[in-house]
Amino acid sequence: MATLSLSKQHPFLSGFESSSHVWCLHCERVWPKSKWIASNWYCPSDDCLGTPMDAIAWDGELLNDLNRPDRPPYPAPGFFWPLYPVFDEKRPLTF
Ligand SMILES: [Zn+2]
Repeated sequence: MATLSLSKQHPFLSGFESSSHVWCLHCERVWPKSKWIASNWYCPSDDCLGTPMDAIAWDGELLNDLNRPDRPPYPAPGFFWPLYPVFDEKRPLTF
């Protein structure tokens, strides 16, 4: 069985070096990278089962490619940022 590293490096993914925050693909919340490191790269959200596989660099290529203007550079801990937001037709998002 593989042992996850407690170092700053993600155990098997790259691209986190320059990212101060990490987004969870499972619960769609974002936490400072230090929180992910402290929880051994499992999602820091108490009610989430997100694993290291769900860790996505907030400043990384994957989310950059979405080109979403509603992605704050320094989100509050636990900031909820759905990948597919529910759009309110009365308040259309302008991309
Ligand atoms: Zn999560």
